[in-house]
Amino acid sequence: MPSNPVPVKERMKLPRVVMPEQEPLIRAGNFKEVNLGLEPAAALQEAQRCIECAKPGCIQQCPVGVNIREVVSLICTGDILAAASKMREDNALPAVTGRVCPQENQCEGGCLLGKRGSSIAIGNLERFIADYERNSGKLGLPQIAPPTGKSVAIVGSGPAGLSAAGDLIQKGHRVRVFEALHELGGVLVYGIPEFRLPKAIVKEEISNLRRLGVQFETNVIVGKSVTIEQLMRDEKFDAVFVATGAGLPQFLDIPGEHLNGVYSANEFLTRINLMRAYLPDDFDQPVYDCRGKDVVVVGGGNVAMDAVRTSKRLGANKATLVYRRSEVEMPARREEVHHARQEGIEFQLLTNPVELVGDEKGWLTGMKCVRMELGEPDEKGRRRPVEVKGSEFIIPCSVAIIGVGTTANPLIQSTTPDLGVTNRNYIIANPETMRTTKKGVFAGGDIVTGAATVILAMGAGRKAAASINDYLTNGVWEH
Ligand code: FAD
Ligand code: SF4
Repeated sequence: MPSNPVPVKERMKLPRVVMPEQEPLIRAGNFKEVNLGLEPAAALQEAQRCIECAKPGCIQQCPVGVNIREVVSLICTGDILAAASKMREDNALPAVTGRVCPQENQCEGGCLLGKRGSSIAIGNLERFIADYERNSGKLGLPQIAPPTGKSVAIVGSGPAGLSAAGDLIQKGHRVRVFEALHELGGVLVYGIPEFRLPKAIVKEEISNLRRLGVQFETNVIVGKSVTIEQLMRDEKFDAVFVATGAGLPQFLDIPGEHLNGVYSANEFLTRINLMRAYLPDDFDQPVYDCRGKDVVVVGGGNVAMDAVRTSKRLGANKATLVYRRSEVEMPARREEVHHARQEGIEFQLLTNPVELVGDEKGWLTGMKCVRMELGEPDEKGRRRPVEVKGSEFIIPCSVAIIGVGTTANPLIQSTTPDLGVTNRNYIIANPETMRTTKKGVFAGGDIVTGAATVILAMGAGRKAAASINDYLTNGVWEH
């Protein structure tokens, strides 16, 4: 019997199943997850839309090559645990990526049905099977190879570090993860807000790694508390994987950024996430109180979108996003832009801040902006914004949050003499082997590529793990 009983012609007529969500006006006042997840019958209905292409564009456009066609086909058979296990062959954190991957540019962007109507909701199905597996309590832990006697230090507990840890422990190596902060999970925990990715999901993935034998040490700033040299020489680690991300915030470099009430999005979100402000009944707000205030966030990516939606949830009177290009150029996930609009976030597009203005006591009172228009395309093909002369105006606000990007923190690079870095302080690593210029040291994730995505960081972690395993097995080092 075929796994999908619906005739192919009929499948193409089926509408895409809509993800149930909390009502916009209700969710804008709480930190609970926006998307509620698919029920089994809805997931089956969505999976049955798949036409099982001979050359599946979905797989070609998945950065880690998940066999999506087979996963979807297993959902059609009703064997959800088998679908989850198939997914885990290539993706170690499906409950996370199902929620945060920019699917429209990846798997769903490659789905043939998208070219004729609407693509299969691959992200929603991925989330469904991962949640089903977790709730079933039947998460099968993988087999661990016999101990090799080798040990690996991983610096950073974001998606790159966690996926490398999961693969290396299975090969029988001793694995210890060093994390600078007091919480594990990297951006998944201190950056992405609770309403998009509940912390309990990341915690559960980390406790699975502990059960496999991965050791974790928090509050260790490698490069300060201990250097890479010391880890290798004194603590006898045979290899080190540097996965420290790109968490150093960039600013606008305009007058007034020192005023009270101005934050980087990184600081704002980290405070909210790590100091539990998303539980407002139990914890105080560890930021300048947004309640009743006008908040303006600068930027068009996921970080800016998260900050502006968070400020709304903290009680902002008016939460505005200022972005210098138009909506089509916004790098944020489409779903986040759509959700933000539904929640009443005001968009000031083609607008660029030129100054932050304040009162005589040093408190922010407004953001002076200019209007922009799109000119010639830049080197990435995006049309360059050009200032419209004489278009200055002020947006009154008491809180301004700058979310225009992050870059590499130079600490490890500056304390590890023979580690090659780019002129922007990213670590140089071979894209195939993730080997750096220093023997035994590998690097991957945002610290190599610059700020990217969760799935790319996970892919880098897995590639590094395979390469570290090769090195530990045959001892040959070539950059
Ligand atoms: P990180 O996740 O940054 O983890 C690095 C870890 O290393 C951190 O825990 C850090 O504390 C630790 N560390 C740093 N220096 C040291 C040191 N010296 N010693 C010890 N530990 C150290 N991507 C998506 O795909 N979808 C999204 O929706 C999305 N939304 C985002 C929202 C926000 C607010 C942010 C900031 C990013 C978002 N991203 C999103 C990007 C994505 O989260 C990152 O690309 C990804 O987390 C990078 O993973 P990583 O493991 O390289 O680094
Ligand atoms: Fe199914 Fe779309 Fe992948 Fe084709 S491209 S196999 S329709 S999910």
